[in-house]
Amino acid sequence: MQIRVLTIFPDLFESFLASTLVGKAVVAGLLEIELVDVRTFATDRHRTVDDEPYGGGGGMVMKAEPWIAAVGASSSEGAHRALLSPQGCRLDEAKVRELAGHASLVLLCGRYEGVDERVRELVVDEELSIGDYVLSGGEVPAMVVIEAVSRQIPGVVGLADSVENDSFRRGVLDFPHYTRPREIEGHSVPDVLLSGDHQAIALWRRREALRATWEKRPDLLEGAELDEDDRAFLAELGRRSRA
Ligand code: SAM
Repeated sequence: MQIRVLTIFPDLFESFLASTLVGKAVVAGLLEIELVDVRTFATDRHRTVDDEPYGGGGGMVMKAEPWIAAVGASSSEGAHRALLSPQGCRLDEAKVRELAGHASLVLLCGRYEGVDERVRELVVDEELSIGDYVLSGGEVPAMVVIEAVSRQIPGVVGLADSVENDSFRRGVLDFPHYTRPREIEGHSVPDVLLSGDHQAIALWRRREALRATWEKRPDLLEGAELDEDDRAFLAELGRRSRA
């Protein structure tokens, strides 16, 4: 998969790429990431990328022409072009998987008051939001998209199992994880995890995943893949909470 990031702050991605699984995936050839400095597409002497808003008020607006030129130069045939924006479709597991299905993604990171509306109209396929709050730029949202999407690429996360059990993957949250030591301030690792009984461990993990979802995100259970045993366990949790 190829991801091109259009930004006026490409340096922000350096330590992100150097320190994460995403960078390792790039080195391993599983993912190609290209950082494109939109400023290099500004044609005036000062490489201006922003200007005052028509109608007055507010802050500066990113000029359309450098963006349109940068997108044109960076979009291979069939590339999916997404503008990071608080007004976009909110990122969730389904959207991440959909994005991971594209062979080529172009991510546009806005700054200031945002990008001239004509960029969205002319060269953007969709707007993507990472949540209902406003950040000062699209770079951190782009990193969120890249990290989430790259986990879907086979081989990026060493053990396929850990992705399979990730929260939201099959409609429920992940089960609790423990590592050494066995006890901290009276809180012990559940005995079953030390038993070596893989069937019992799998059953415990499934039930704890269901319990976590039931307690923290019951809204997810409606769309989750549940078998008879799962339903019986959830019904039991419900009965116990009412007793
Ligand atoms: N005035 C814009 C609005 O209220 O809709 C916000 C502009 S914001 C200060 C500057 C840039 O940050 C945006 O163009 C976008 O690229 C990025 N951004 C901010 N919040 C975001 C979010 N929740 N999701 C994705 N991108 C975001």
